[in-house]
Amino acid sequence: MKQNVIAIDGPAGAGKSTVAKMVAEKLGFVYIDTGAMYRAVTCRALAEGIELTNHAAISELAGRINVRFNRDEAGLQVLADGDDVTEAIRTPEVTAAVPLVSQVAAVRQAMVRLQQEMAATGAVVLDGRDIGSVVVPDACAKIFLTASVAERARRRWQEMKQKGYEQDLVALQQEIEQRDRQDQERELAPLIQAEDAVLLDTTGMPIEAVVSGIVTIYQTRCGHV
Ligand code: C5P
Repeated sequence: MKQNVIAIDGPAGAGKSTVAKMVAEKLGFVYIDTGAMYRAVTCRALAEGIELTNHAAISELAGRINVRFNRDEAGLQVLADGDDVTEAIRTPEVTAAVPLVSQVAAVRQAMVRLQQEMAATGAVVLDGRDIGSVVVPDACAKIFLTASVAERARRRWQEMKQKGYEQDLVALQQEIEQRDRQDQERELAPLIQAEDAVLLDTTGMPIEAVVSGIVTIYQTRCGHV
């Protein structure tokens, strides 16, 4: 059992990254945004004009791309082959395309290996879809974070608006539902709640309550009370 690893999984827009970042800050842990890594590969595939159904070309890309995080005062930067893609990976185009790329075996193998290397130091919070089931199945604290699809769509709409993207709320909810379906139904490492994960439905919950709830789960489950 890994005593200082927190795994947070859940569907799109459940607030995983915001919450994971805050939990990491509170505990002095490092935050690992695994979705950003799949987004970085997707962003590069789109930039190179790779057909998203061409699994051979995507696998070849997965074998050569260098995805890294850089942490400084400005926050968390995502680098793909040294280029800063922090903003570019959040566009609606990348968001819509990422489930097609993340289902490719070579992509998952490469990203999971990197994630496990990063988690090996301990004192980490990882968020994603297969963290508790595949990446760190021995994490002492596993949380499955969710909320109603209407609330997730509303949160994502607000977040995208702040970034300058005006999206239709109904279309956004449909896009979230489709992405969840794709992530849940894929063959490899689908989005599932690990058997020993605590289910946390955050519908209507203030963010601070979610964060302190996770810290309490960590303290109880990982023996740090
Ligand atoms: O968490 P985020 O919305 O940034 O994830 C983007 C996409 O990356 C997901 O919809 C999923 O297809 C993929 N992903 C994954 N496994 C993870 C994290 C993300 O397949 N651990």
